[in-house]
Amino acid sequence: MIYPIVKFGDPVLERRAEPVTVFDDELKKLVDDMFESMYAAHGVGLAAPQIGISKRLAVIDITFKEDPSAKLVLANPEIVHTEGRHTQNEGCLSIPDFRESLTRPRTVTIRAQDVDGKFYNKTGEELLARAFLHETDHLNGKLYISHLSALKRDLIKRKIRKLIKAGEW
Ligand SMILES: [Zn+2]
Repeated sequence: MIYPIVKFGDPVLERRAEPVTVFDDELKKLVDDMFESMYAAHGVGLAAPQIGISKRLAVIDITFKEDPSAKLVLANPEIVHTEGRHTQNEGCLSIPDFRESLTRPRTVTIRAQDVDGKFYNKTGEELLARAFLHETDHLNGKLYISHLSALKRDLIKRKIRKLIKAGEW
């Protein structure tokens, strides 16, 4: 099932999500649906709040279907280590059509649970490191624009408010 993506303005995106505690078939179905919804939206990462589900769950595939082994399920992820700096354009499926240059750590290690509840650690560089941070932020109710300067962030918010008013959001 393909879920519609929740857009900026919906309070679910700015709420701290609840831990995943049950690793059952229902969760597996949700994870499958999240991958399907992410690919349909042409994204490389998707957090459950972005489909209106306030759970600490995210999926990532920075290869966009090219490498099946690159598919990652992050349940209850935590950032355990960051290193270096890397600047790249960043966007978010919940804030469509906007992209901003953002400096984040270059190397990031997470500890998370997979779809079966098994704990794992994984280290990512550059785009994967950025995805770890971006998706974990989502689960804490934080959007990437919160890392921008107040000036840039306000400009984006003003443009979005205009789009909402015009019924184009
Ligand atoms: Zn996002």
